[in-house]
Amino acid sequence: MRTNLTVPFAEKDAARTLGARWDAARKVWYVENVENLESFLRWIPGAAKQAASVPAVTVRGARFFRTGCKCLPWAPCSSCVDKVASAGWGLPA
Ligand SMILES: [Zn+2]
Repeated sequence: MRTNLTVPFAEKDAARTLGARWDAARKVWYVENVENLESFLRWIPGAAKQAASVPAVTVRGARFFRTGCKCLPWAPCSSCVDKVASAGWGLPA
């Protein structure tokens, strides 16, 4: 499979070093039958955009909970200390 690349003139040597070839007839850089296009992604139109559109994932631990309190998590707080402790986050006695 052939993939055309949009290579700025200043980056042509870098592209060539990575294995890109110059199509003199069409005046375009390209790679052919490359299994892993990762090195060429920045020169493939639309590829960077596609990568940026991957949704962010929020990971929460099993003991995640909301205190419902506006205090800072590292500051001692008498309003939510019992709630924090009952959720298993209490300080050792
Ligand atoms: Zn609090």
